[in-house]
Amino acid sequence: MPKRRPFLALLAGALSTSFLLAGCLGNPPSRTSRYAATSTPINAQAASKLETKTISLGFVPILESAPLVIGVEKGFFAKHGLQVTASKQASWSTARDNVVLGSEGGGIDGGQWQLPMPQMISEGTLTNGKKVPMVILAMLMSQGNGIAAANSVKDANLSADLRSSSPGFFAKFEDREGRKFRAAYSFPKANQDMWIRYWLAANGVNPDKDVELLTVPAPETLQGMRNGTMEAFSTGDPWPSRIAKQDIGYLAALTAQIWKAHPEEYLAIRSDWVDKHPKATVALLKGLIESQMWLDKPENKAEAAEILSSRKWYNVPRELLEQTLKGQYKLGAKGTTQTDSSMGPLYWNSERGVISYPYKSLTLWFLIESLRWKFYPGTIDTIAEAKALNDRVTREDLWRQAAKEVGVPSKDIPTTSSRGKEIFFDGTIYDPENPQAYLNSLKIKK
Ligand code: CA
Repeated sequence: MPKRRPFLALLAGALSTSFLLAGCLGNPPSRTSRYAATSTPINAQAASKLETKTISLGFVPILESAPLVIGVEKGFFAKHGLQVTASKQASWSTARDNVVLGSEGGGIDGGQWQLPMPQMISEGTLTNGKKVPMVILAMLMSQGNGIAAANSVKDANLSADLRSSSPGFFAKFEDREGRKFRAAYSFPKANQDMWIRYWLAANGVNPDKDVELLTVPAPETLQGMRNGTMEAFSTGDPWPSRIAKQDIGYLAALTAQIWKAHPEEYLAIRSDWVDKHPKATVALLKGLIESQMWLDKPENKAEAAEILSSRKWYNVPRELLEQTLKGQYKLGAKGTTQTDSSMGPLYWNSERGVISYPYKSLTLWFLIESLRWKFYPGTIDTIAEAKALNDRVTREDLWRQAAKEVGVPSKDIPTTSSRGKEIFFDGTIYDPENPQAYLNSLKIKK
Protein backbone atom coordinates (compact mmCIF):
# COMPACT_ATOMS: atom_id res chain seq x y z
CA MET A 1 0.00 0.00 0.00
CA PRO A 2 2.35 2.77 -1.14
CA LYS A 3 -0.41 5.33 -0.73
CA ARG A 4 -0.83 4.81 3.00
CA ARG A 5 2.22 6.71 4.17
CA PRO A 6 1.54 10.00 2.36
CA PHE A 7 -2.03 9.90 3.53
CA LEU A 8 -0.89 9.65 7.14
CA ALA A 9 1.41 12.60 6.52
CA LEU A 10 -1.54 14.47 5.11
CA LEU A 11 -3.64 13.62 8.15
CA ALA A 12 -0.91 15.02 10.36
CA GLY A 13 -1.08 18.24 8.36
CA ALA A 14 -4.83 18.35 8.71
CA LEU A 15 -4.52 17.77 12.45
CA SER A 16 -2.09 20.60 12.93
CA THR A 17 -4.43 22.83 10.96
CA SER A 18 -7.44 21.96 13.07
CA PHE A 19 -5.31 22.51 16.14
CA LEU A 20 -4.60 26.00 14.83
CA LEU A 21 -8.28 26.45 14.10
CA ALA A 22 -9.14 25.43 17.63
CA GLY A 23 -7.10 28.12 19.25
CA CYS A 24 -3.55 29.33 19.78
CA LEU A 25 -4.94 32.79 20.40
CA GLY A 26 -2.63 35.11 22.22
CA ASN A 27 0.52 33.45 20.88
CA PRO A 28 3.03 35.79 19.31
CA PRO A 29 2.52 35.89 15.53
CA SER A 30 4.73 33.29 13.95
CA ARG A 31 6.16 32.90 10.46
CA THR A 32 5.02 36.37 9.49
CA SER A 33 7.18 38.53 7.24
CA ARG A 34 6.64 42.27 7.12
CA TYR A 35 7.24 44.54 4.15
CA ALA A 36 6.84 48.20 3.46
CA ALA A 37 8.07 49.99 0.36
CA THR A 38 11.03 52.14 1.18
CA SER A 39 11.35 53.74 -2.25
CA THR A 40 8.21 55.86 -2.14
CA PRO A 41 8.25 58.75 0.33
CA ILE A 42 5.03 59.38 2.20
CA ASN A 43 3.17 62.47 1.02
CA ALA A 44 3.74 64.61 4.10
CA GLN A 45 0.96 67.08 3.35
CA ALA A 46 -1.61 64.30 2.95
CA ALA A 47 -0.25 62.54 6.03
CA SER A 48 -0.62 65.66 8.17
CA LYS A 49 -4.40 65.48 7.73
CA LEU A 50 -4.68 61.85 8.92
CA GLU A 51 -5.16 60.54 12.46
CA THR A 52 -2.30 58.09 11.91
CA LYS A 53 0.39 57.58 9.30
CA THR A 54 0.64 53.80 9.57
CA ILE A 55 -1.44 50.65 9.28
CA SER A 56 -0.42 47.00 9.40
CA LEU A 57 -2.26 44.68 6.99
CA GLY A 58 -2.03 40.94 6.53
CA PHE A 59 -1.90 39.24 3.15
CA VAL A 60 -1.73 35.71 1.78
CA PRO A 61 0.48 35.19 -1.32
CA ILE A 62 -2.31 34.64 -3.84
CA LEU A 63 -3.57 37.08 -6.45
CA GLU A 64 -6.38 38.38 -4.23
CA SER A 65 -3.77 40.38 -2.31
CA ALA A 66 -2.30 42.04 -5.43
CA PRO A 67 -4.05 45.40 -4.80
CA LEU A 68 -2.37 45.60 -1.37
CA VAL A 69 1.07 44.67 -2.72
CA ILE A 70 0.81 47.01 -5.72
CA GLY A 71 -0.54 49.78 -3.49
CA VAL A 72 2.61 49.48 -1.36
CA GLU A 73 5.11 49.02 -4.21
CA LYS A 74 3.71 51.62 -6.62
CA GLY A 75 3.26 54.17 -3.85
CA PHE A 76 -0.55 54.51 -4.07
CA PHE A 77 -0.95 54.42 -0.29
CA ALA A 78 2.04 56.70 0.29
CA LYS A 79 0.54 59.23 -2.13
CA HIS A 80 -2.43 59.57 0.22
CA GLY A 81 -0.23 59.89 3.30
CA LEU A 82 -0.37 56.32 4.60
CA GLN A 83 2.50 53.94 5.27
CA VAL A 84 1.04 50.46 4.79
CA THR A 85 3.03 47.57 6.21
CA ALA A 86 1.98 44.34 4.51
CA SER A 87 2.66 41.18 6.51
CA LYS A 88 2.70 37.80 4.79
CA GLN A 89 0.50 35.37 6.71
CA ALA A 90 1.50 31.71 6.86
CA SER A 91 -2.15 30.65 6.79
CA TRP A 92 -5.68 31.97 7.20
CA SER A 93 -5.67 30.89 10.83
CA THR A 94 -2.49 32.91 11.40
CA ALA A 95 -4.21 35.96 9.89
CA ARG A 96 -7.18 35.43 12.18
CA ASP A 97 -4.96 35.12 15.27
CA ASN A 98 -2.99 38.23 14.25
CA VAL A 99 -6.08 40.40 13.82
CA VAL A 100 -7.24 39.38 17.30
CA LEU A 101 -3.90 40.73 18.58
CA GLY A 102 -4.16 43.94 16.56
CA SER A 103 -1.06 45.90 15.57
CA GLU A 104 -0.68 47.18 19.12
CA GLY A 105 -0.27 43.58 20.26
CA GLY A 106 2.23 42.76 17.52
CA GLY A 107 -0.42 41.52 15.09
CA ILE A 108 -2.29 43.24 12.25
CA ASP A 109 -5.09 45.82 11.99
CA GLY A 110 -6.79 43.91 9.18
CA GLY A 111 -6.11 43.00 5.58
CA GLN A 112 -7.20 40.37 3.07
CA TRP A 113 -9.99 37.94 4.02
CA GLN A 114 -12.07 35.14 2.68
CA LEU A 115 -15.70 35.61 3.66
CA PRO A 116 -17.36 35.24 6.07
CA MET A 117 -14.19 35.39 8.21
CA PRO A 118 -14.61 39.08 9.14
CA GLN A 119 -18.26 38.53 10.05
CA MET A 120 -17.43 35.45 12.14
CA ILE A 121 -14.43 37.10 13.84
CA SER A 122 -16.79 39.99 14.69
CA GLU A 123 -19.12 37.50 16.37
CA GLY A 124 -16.34 35.56 18.12
CA THR A 125 -17.31 32.42 16.21
CA LEU A 126 -13.81 31.75 14.86
CA THR A 127 -12.00 33.11 17.88
CA ASN A 128 -13.06 31.04 20.89
CA GLY A 129 -15.85 33.49 21.67
CA LYS A 130 -13.64 36.57 21.68
CA LYS A 131 -15.53 39.15 19.62
CA VAL A 132 -13.32 41.41 17.51
CA PRO A 133 -15.70 43.64 15.52
CA MET A 134 -14.50 44.20 11.98
CA VAL A 135 -15.56 46.30 8.99
CA ILE A 136 -15.64 45.05 5.40
CA LEU A 137 -14.57 48.01 3.25
CA ALA A 138 -13.89 46.81 -0.31
CA MET A 139 -13.71 43.77 -2.55
CA LEU A 140 -10.08 43.09 -3.45
CA MET A 141 -10.59 40.84 -6.46
CA SER A 142 -13.21 38.89 -8.38
CA GLN A 143 -12.73 35.50 -10.12
CA GLY A 144 -9.14 34.18 -10.31
CA ASN A 145 -9.94 31.01 -8.37
CA GLY A 146 -10.48 27.50 -9.57
CA ILE A 147 -10.81 23.83 -8.91
CA ALA A 148 -7.77 21.79 -9.85
CA ALA A 149 -8.01 18.02 -10.31
CA ALA A 150 -5.15 15.51 -10.05
CA ASN A 151 -3.74 13.67 -13.04
CA SER A 152 -4.94 10.44 -11.39
CA VAL A 153 -8.47 11.51 -12.40
CA LYS A 154 -7.54 12.85 -15.82
CA ASP A 155 -9.59 10.16 -17.53
CA ALA A 156 -12.65 11.43 -15.67
CA ASN A 157 -12.34 14.68 -17.63
CA LEU A 158 -13.76 16.77 -14.76
CA SER A 159 -15.12 20.12 -15.94
CA ALA A 160 -17.50 22.84 -14.83
CA ASP A 161 -20.38 20.84 -16.28
CA LEU A 162 -19.88 17.41 -14.71
CA ARG A 163 -23.23 16.10 -15.92
CA SER A 164 -21.98 16.13 -19.49
CA SER A 165 -18.23 15.59 -18.97
CA SER A 166 -18.20 12.99 -16.20
CA PRO A 167 -21.64 11.48 -15.50
CA GLY A 168 -21.73 9.20 -12.44
CA PHE A 169 -18.01 9.67 -11.83
CA PHE A 170 -17.98 10.06 -8.04
CA ALA A 171 -19.98 6.87 -7.39
CA LYS A 172 -17.75 4.96 -9.82
CA PHE A 173 -14.66 6.36 -8.08
CA GLU A 174 -15.89 5.13 -4.70
CA ASP A 175 -16.66 1.66 -6.10
CA ARG A 176 -13.24 1.40 -7.69
CA GLU A 177 -11.08 2.90 -4.91
CA GLY A 178 -13.02 1.76 -1.88
CA ARG A 179 -13.09 5.32 -0.58
CA LYS A 180 -14.59 8.63 -1.50
CA PHE A 181 -13.06 11.19 -3.85
CA ARG A 182 -11.09 13.66 -1.73
CA ALA A 183 -11.06 17.40 -2.34
CA ALA A 184 -9.20 20.02 -0.31
CA TYR A 185 -9.24 23.71 0.50
CA SER A 186 -6.97 25.77 2.73
CA PHE A 187 -9.62 27.07 5.14
CA PRO A 188 -13.04 25.59 5.89
CA LYS A 189 -16.45 27.28 5.72
CA ALA A 190 -15.31 30.19 3.53
CA ASN A 191 -14.86 31.03 -0.19
CA GLN A 192 -12.92 28.00 -1.39
CA ASP A 193 -15.14 25.58 0.50
CA MET A 194 -18.19 27.36 -0.91
CA TRP A 195 -16.97 27.26 -4.51
CA ILE A 196 -16.29 23.54 -4.52
CA ARG A 197 -19.58 22.84 -2.76
CA TYR A 198 -21.50 25.04 -5.18
CA TRP A 199 -19.88 23.32 -8.19
CA LEU A 200 -20.50 19.81 -6.89
CA ALA A 201 -24.07 20.42 -5.72
CA ALA A 202 -25.05 22.17 -8.96
CA ASN A 203 -23.90 18.99 -10.72
CA GLY A 204 -26.00 16.76 -8.47
CA VAL A 205 -23.11 15.67 -6.20
CA ASN A 206 -23.74 16.04 -2.47
CA PRO A 207 -20.53 17.51 -0.95
CA ASP A 208 -21.43 16.18 2.51
CA LYS A 209 -22.13 12.63 1.33
CA ASP A 210 -20.63 11.80 -2.04
CA VAL A 211 -17.08 13.14 -1.54
CA GLU A 212 -14.70 13.83 1.35
CA LEU A 213 -13.70 17.46 1.88
CA LEU A 214 -10.46 18.23 3.75
CA THR A 215 -8.65 21.28 5.06
CA VAL A 216 -5.02 21.18 3.89
CA PRO A 217 -2.43 24.00 4.08
CA ALA A 218 -1.85 25.30 0.54
CA PRO A 219 1.89 24.43 0.42
CA GLU A 220 1.04 20.76 1.15
CA THR A 221 -1.46 20.40 -1.66
CA LEU A 222 0.98 20.02 -4.55
CA GLN A 223 2.65 17.11 -2.81
CA GLY A 224 -0.72 15.72 -1.78
CA MET A 225 -1.98 15.70 -5.35
CA ARG A 226 1.24 14.14 -6.55
CA ASN A 227 0.99 11.38 -3.95
CA GLY A 228 -2.62 10.65 -4.69
CA THR A 229 -3.78 11.60 -1.22
CA MET A 230 -6.31 14.02 -2.69
CA GLU A 231 -7.91 14.35 -6.09
CA ALA A 232 -8.93 18.01 -6.14
CA PHE A 233 -8.03 21.36 -4.64
CA SER A 234 -10.19 24.48 -4.55
CA THR A 235 -7.96 27.52 -4.40
CA GLY A 236 -6.89 30.95 -5.60
CA ASP A 237 -4.43 31.72 -8.38
CA PRO A 238 -1.63 31.03 -8.92
CA TRP A 239 -2.15 27.62 -7.27
CA PRO A 240 -4.48 26.03 -9.87
CA SER A 241 -2.21 27.28 -12.67
CA ARG A 242 0.86 25.96 -10.84
CA ILE A 243 -0.74 22.55 -10.56
CA ALA A 244 -1.47 22.55 -14.31
CA LYS A 245 1.94 24.01 -15.24
CA GLN A 246 3.86 21.45 -13.18
CA ASP A 247 1.70 18.70 -14.69
CA ILE A 248 0.49 17.49 -11.30
CA GLY A 249 -3.06 17.93 -12.40
CA TYR A 250 -5.38 20.03 -14.51
CA LEU A 251 -7.82 22.88 -14.15
CA ALA A 252 -11.29 21.34 -14.00
CA ALA A 253 -13.24 24.55 -13.51
CA LEU A 254 -12.67 28.25 -13.05
CA THR A 255 -14.81 30.09 -10.53
CA ALA A 256 -15.47 32.57 -13.37
CA GLN A 257 -17.31 29.73 -15.10
CA ILE A 258 -19.41 29.07 -12.01
CA TRP A 259 -20.38 32.69 -11.38
CA LYS A 260 -19.20 35.54 -13.62
CA ALA A 261 -17.80 38.52 -11.69
CA HIS A 262 -18.44 36.71 -8.40
CA PRO A 263 -17.45 38.21 -5.06
CA GLU A 264 -14.07 36.83 -3.95
CA GLU A 265 -11.84 38.14 -1.17
CA TYR A 266 -12.25 41.43 0.68
CA LEU A 267 -10.41 44.13 2.59
CA ALA A 268 -11.61 44.23 6.19
CA ILE A 269 -10.17 46.13 9.17
CA ARG A 270 -10.83 46.05 12.89
CA SER A 271 -13.74 48.38 13.77
CA ASP A 272 -11.82 50.02 16.58
CA TRP A 273 -9.10 51.04 14.10
CA VAL A 274 -11.64 52.43 11.60
CA ASP A 275 -13.55 54.31 14.33
CA LYS A 276 -10.34 55.87 15.62
CA HIS A 277 -8.95 56.66 12.14
CA PRO A 278 -11.78 57.48 9.70
CA LYS A 279 -9.65 59.79 7.55
CA ALA A 280 -6.81 57.27 7.36
CA THR A 281 -9.38 54.61 6.38
CA VAL A 282 -10.53 56.79 3.48
CA ALA A 283 -6.87 57.36 2.52
CA LEU A 284 -6.33 53.60 2.54
CA LEU A 285 -9.35 53.12 0.28
CA LYS A 286 -8.17 55.86 -2.07
CA GLY A 287 -4.85 54.08 -2.49
CA LEU A 288 -6.60 50.74 -2.91
CA ILE A 289 -8.95 52.05 -5.60
CA GLU A 290 -6.04 53.51 -7.56
CA SER A 291 -4.12 50.27 -7.17
CA GLN A 292 -7.08 48.23 -8.45
CA MET A 293 -7.52 50.56 -11.45
CA TRP A 294 -3.81 50.22 -12.23
CA LEU A 295 -3.91 46.42 -11.96
CA ASP A 296 -6.77 46.06 -14.45
CA LYS A 297 -4.98 47.94 -17.22
CA PRO A 298 -3.61 45.45 -19.81
CA GLU A 299 -0.38 47.43 -20.20
CA ASN A 300 0.43 47.00 -16.48
CA LYS A 301 0.04 43.22 -16.18
CA ALA A 302 3.66 42.37 -17.01
CA GLU A 303 4.97 44.85 -14.45
CA ALA A 304 2.48 43.60 -11.86
CA ALA A 305 3.70 40.03 -12.45
CA GLU A 306 7.31 41.16 -12.06
CA ILE A 307 6.58 42.87 -8.73
CA LEU A 308 4.42 40.08 -7.33
CA SER A 309 6.84 37.32 -8.33
CA SER A 310 9.63 38.58 -6.08
CA ARG A 311 10.72 36.53 -3.13
CA LYS A 312 9.39 38.98 -0.57
CA TRP A 313 5.89 38.88 -2.06
CA TYR A 314 4.71 35.64 -3.73
CA ASN A 315 7.96 33.94 -4.67
CA VAL A 316 6.34 32.40 -7.77
CA PRO A 317 7.70 32.48 -11.36
CA ARG A 318 6.91 35.75 -13.13
CA GLU A 319 5.67 34.03 -16.33
CA LEU A 320 3.07 32.06 -14.41
CA LEU A 321 1.70 35.19 -12.75
CA GLU A 322 1.68 37.14 -16.00
CA GLN A 323 -0.27 34.42 -17.80
CA THR A 324 -2.78 34.20 -14.97
CA LEU A 325 -3.20 37.99 -14.70
CA LYS A 326 -3.97 38.03 -18.43
CA GLY A 327 -6.56 35.27 -18.07
CA GLN A 328 -4.44 32.69 -19.88
CA TYR A 329 -5.33 29.21 -18.62
CA LYS A 330 -4.65 25.65 -19.63
CA LEU A 331 -8.16 24.44 -19.10
CA GLY A 332 -9.54 20.92 -18.72
CA ALA A 333 -8.03 17.42 -18.93
CA LYS A 334 -6.80 18.14 -22.45
CA GLY A 335 -5.09 21.32 -21.25
CA THR A 336 -6.54 23.55 -23.93
CA THR A 337 -4.96 26.97 -23.73
CA GLN A 338 -7.51 29.71 -23.45
CA THR A 339 -6.77 33.42 -23.19
CA ASP A 340 -9.69 35.54 -22.10
CA SER A 341 -9.00 38.36 -19.67
CA SER A 342 -12.70 38.48 -18.76
CA MET A 343 -12.27 34.98 -17.24
CA GLY A 344 -9.17 35.87 -15.22
CA PRO A 345 -8.78 37.85 -12.00
CA LEU A 346 -10.63 41.18 -12.07
CA TYR A 347 -9.72 44.10 -9.83
CA TRP A 348 -11.71 47.08 -11.04
CA ASN A 349 -14.02 46.54 -14.00
CA SER A 350 -16.41 43.77 -14.92
CA GLU A 351 -19.52 43.20 -16.97
CA ARG A 352 -21.37 43.79 -13.68
CA GLY A 353 -19.72 47.16 -13.06
CA VAL A 354 -17.14 48.11 -10.48
CA ILE A 355 -15.55 45.19 -8.60
CA SER A 356 -14.10 47.03 -5.62
CA TYR A 357 -17.39 48.36 -4.20
CA PRO A 358 -18.53 46.42 -1.10
CA TYR A 359 -22.09 45.65 -2.18
CA LYS A 360 -24.03 44.39 0.82
CA SER A 361 -25.96 42.11 -1.53
CA LEU A 362 -22.71 40.25 -2.27
CA THR A 363 -21.27 40.08 1.25
CA LEU A 364 -24.68 38.78 2.34
CA TRP A 365 -24.43 35.85 -0.10
CA PHE A 366 -21.62 34.29 1.94
CA LEU A 367 -23.87 34.30 5.00
CA ILE A 368 -26.80 32.87 3.04
CA GLU A 369 -24.51 30.16 1.68
CA SER A 370 -23.40 29.52 5.27
CA LEU A 371 -27.06 28.96 6.15
CA ARG A 372 -27.36 26.55 3.22
CA TRP A 373 -24.59 24.35 4.63
CA LYS A 374 -25.32 25.07 8.32
CA PHE A 375 -21.74 26.28 8.76
CA TYR A 376 -22.22 28.51 11.80
CA PRO A 377 -25.11 27.27 13.94
CA GLY A 378 -25.65 29.49 16.94
CA THR A 379 -24.26 32.52 15.11
CA ILE A 380 -26.53 32.63 12.09
CA ASP A 381 -29.54 30.36 11.95
CA THR A 382 -31.97 32.61 10.10
CA ILE A 383 -31.96 35.00 7.15
CA ALA A 384 -32.86 37.85 9.52
CA GLU A 385 -29.73 37.12 11.59
CA ALA A 386 -27.63 36.94 8.43
CA LYS A 387 -28.92 40.31 7.23
CA ALA A 388 -28.43 41.97 10.61
CA LEU A 389 -24.85 40.70 10.87
CA ASN A 390 -24.13 41.75 7.29
CA ASP A 391 -25.46 45.24 7.98
CA ARG A 392 -23.23 45.53 11.05
CA VAL A 393 -20.03 44.47 9.29
CA THR A 394 -20.19 45.75 5.69
CA ARG A 395 -19.78 49.49 5.28
CA GLU A 396 -20.21 51.27 1.93
CA ASP A 397 -20.05 54.98 2.82
CA LEU A 398 -16.28 55.20 3.26
CA TRP A 399 -15.71 53.57 -0.14
CA ARG A 400 -18.04 56.09 -1.79
CA GLN A 401 -16.26 58.98 -0.10
CA ALA A 402 -12.84 57.66 -1.14
CA ALA A 403 -13.99 57.08 -4.75
CA LYS A 404 -15.34 60.61 -4.96
CA GLU A 405 -12.18 62.14 -3.51
CA VAL A 406 -9.93 60.18 -5.83
CA GLY A 407 -11.91 61.26 -8.88
CA VAL A 408 -13.85 58.13 -9.84
CA PRO A 409 -16.57 59.26 -12.30
CA SER A 410 -19.92 59.39 -10.51
CA LYS A 411 -21.41 56.89 -13.01
CA ASP A 412 -18.94 54.31 -11.62
CA ILE A 413 -19.86 54.93 -7.98
CA PRO A 414 -22.77 52.65 -7.03
CA THR A 415 -25.62 54.38 -5.25
CA THR A 416 -27.36 51.28 -3.86
CA SER A 417 -26.37 48.37 -1.64
CA SER A 418 -27.46 45.77 -4.18
CA ARG A 419 -25.84 44.66 -7.41
CA GLY A 420 -29.20 43.12 -8.28
CA LYS A 421 -29.97 39.51 -9.14
CA GLU A 422 -27.07 37.12 -9.58
CA ILE A 423 -27.18 34.16 -11.96
CA PHE A 424 -25.04 31.03 -11.56
CA PHE A 425 -23.85 28.68 -14.29
CA ASP A 426 -26.60 26.17 -13.53
CA GLY A 427 -29.31 28.81 -13.97
CA THR A 428 -29.86 29.28 -10.23
CA ILE A 429 -30.78 32.85 -9.30
CA TYR A 430 -29.77 34.59 -6.10
CA ASP A 431 -32.06 37.57 -5.60
CA PRO A 432 -30.69 39.48 -2.60
CA GLU A 433 -34.22 40.83 -2.03
CA ASN A 434 -35.41 37.28 -1.47
CA PRO A 435 -32.68 34.96 -0.16
CA GLN A 436 -35.31 32.45 0.94
CA ALA A 437 -36.31 31.86 -2.68
CA TYR A 438 -32.64 31.16 -3.47
CA LEU A 439 -32.36 28.68 -0.59
CA ASN A 440 -35.63 27.04 -1.60
CA SER A 441 -34.42 26.63 -5.17
CA LEU A 442 -31.30 24.66 -4.18
CA LYS A 443 -31.84 20.93 -4.42
CA ILE A 444 -28.78 19.93 -2.42
CA LYS A 445 -28.22 21.56 0.97
CA LYS A 446 -27.76 20.53 4.58
CA1 CA B 1 -9.72 32.98 -2.94
